[in-house]
Amino acid sequence: MASVIMGMVQEVGHSFIRLGVGSQIRVPSAVWKPELVVGVRVSVTARLLGSEWIADEIVLEEQPHQTYPRVQMDQGTLRSLILAKLIDGRLARDTLPRVWGAAGDGQNCAACDQAVTKNQIMIGEGLRADDPTRRFHIECFSILDQERRRR
Ligand SMILES: [Zn+2]
Repeated sequence: MASVIMGMVQEVGHSFIRLGVGSQIRVPSAVWKPELVVGVRVSVTARLLGSEWIADEIVLEEQPHQTYPRVQMDQGTLRSLILAKLIDGRLARDTLPRVWGAAGDGQNCAACDQAVTKNQIMIGEGLRADDPTRRFHIECFSILDQERRRR
């Protein structure tokens, strides 16, 4: 018996996503989409197997970049800044296995040094929310992630 679960992706793990509070859904590699990032709204067709939800199909409702106000910096400048910080160590080169998302609270993004406002999504890396070097705008995190993969 399949159910449709709708919501915003709050956490992305190696083979699961979490929507809202508590609904962790296992995502088989055949169903995985590269667009699955924190902040994206999805509807997931899933079935309950034992006590675990397994995704059969995932439909993206909208992209976060279209929904939230953009960072006030042109993309080339932003990418150069992130690269410079990766090279001089102000941004960590390693990736952490978990990222989480939350509404911004006015604290600065470690990549662009601008505040992540209430109407923007803040991405945190790792399990701890109190590491200021691992807090980002969703678009800054996406550029950082691309640049780390290149190295
Ligand atoms: Zn930023």
